[in-house]
Amino acid sequence: MAMNVGKRLAAGANMPAPGEDVLINTQEAVHSALTRLGYSETVYELLKEPIRVLTVRIPVRMDDGHTEVFTGYRAQHNDAVGPTKGGIRFHPNVTLGEVKALSIWMSIKCGIFNLPYGGAKGGIICDPRTMSIGEQERLARGYVRAVSQIVGPTKDVPAPDVYTNPQIMAWMYDEYSRIREYDSPGFITGKPLVLGGSRGREKATAYGVVVAMQEGAAALGKTLTELKVIVQGFGNVGSNVALILHEMGVKVVGISDAGGGLYDIEGLDIPSLVDKRDSFGMVTTNYSHVMSNEELLVQDCDVLVPAALENQITASNAHEIKASMVVEAANGPTTPAADEILNERGVLIIPDVLANAGGVTVSYFEWVQNSQGFYWTEEEVNQRLTDMMVSSTQNILKTARRYQVPTRLAAYMVGMKPFAEAMRWRGWV
Ligand code: GLU
Repeated sequence: MAMNVGKRLAAGANMPAPGEDVLINTQEAVHSALTRLGYSETVYELLKEPIRVLTVRIPVRMDDGHTEVFTGYRAQHNDAVGPTKGGIRFHPNVTLGEVKALSIWMSIKCGIFNLPYGGAKGGIICDPRTMSIGEQERLARGYVRAVSQIVGPTKDVPAPDVYTNPQIMAWMYDEYSRIREYDSPGFITGKPLVLGGSRGREKATAYGVVVAMQEGAAALGKTLTELKVIVQGFGNVGSNVALILHEMGVKVVGISDAGGGLYDIEGLDIPSLVDKRDSFGMVTTNYSHVMSNEELLVQDCDVLVPAALENQITASNAHEIKASMVVEAANGPTTPAADEILNERGVLIIPDVLANAGGVTVSYFEWVQNSQGFYWTEEEVNQRLTDMMVSSTQNILKTARRYQVPTRLAAYMVGMKPFAEAMRWRGWV
């Protein structure tokens, strides 16, 4: 299988569509995990692609009066365990292959954390950085109208992802409730607090990343405060990881945004950087001496936290990474070739499907609170999240040791198992 994939990628004439490489890599990893667990090819057939994908075209009246037509996707990976769950991404580079891969990763996260969901993901090809607030609102509402048939609190529950936020969730919730003609807060998570959002949701992914990092450090016989950290990406997740670490007294020596990176071996003043960032995570525009993202990744540090987009750590830079631990806050930041190099070099990888699953875990808490109409304190949310991050991280590290496999494969094995089992009970395989 690996050879076929290699051949497909190598043949220039048959280059996969953009984003398709991420999907092929994911399928290969799913195949390895299922084979290792002894499941049949039929199980793989059902898990290698989403069970349902909808492509929609969304007309949006722009501020200057013309109508622009956007393309959006919603991929639902597997609903054997329960309704599907996952964010919606607004980004110019969104592709169907990427959205499908992201939906599979969401299943794995839900599986690792025993959440009663399968994975899903949505995406719209657009650049919200160049759109007015009104245009973004009309696009968000148009997307919900287009996918409304296949989503809902017991069908498929969206959430924020790259370049989407509580405001966009609020418009989507409002639109969905109007379509259904009843109030439906459980339709979407990551909402503002006053609309049924959960305390702790906004920082949940970052908080979980830090807890996973702490467990990883313990496995290396270290405590966090003796480590120097570089965080790539300064969006919701990256900036909050940097801030939480800073507040804990951990030295954050490097950060970056889409424009480049800042590095200081003595530690950066994170609160002032957070104050200066805009809503799309841009901060380096306020500074000179900005290095490229590529340069930042290979600077001296103990822990590297990629918190931006896919394919940042590749075969061309993996050899030069100085960190002894990589904690993947972003989805899919490491290519399989880079993964192999880092593993060979003994770098501990806390894979994305584990490290960043604090987001979907607190989304689950939000959905539970919405269905009960009873809301938890921030301490309760963070305590439950911490407990689940600690036990899941320990479980993956233990599985990796027990099966003598890299941590990512261990995570895929733990995360895919509930789907294979649920499909068997349901009589699908
Ligand atoms: N978009 C986030 C992720 O990739 C959160 C998904 C959710 O909360 O459902 O995990």
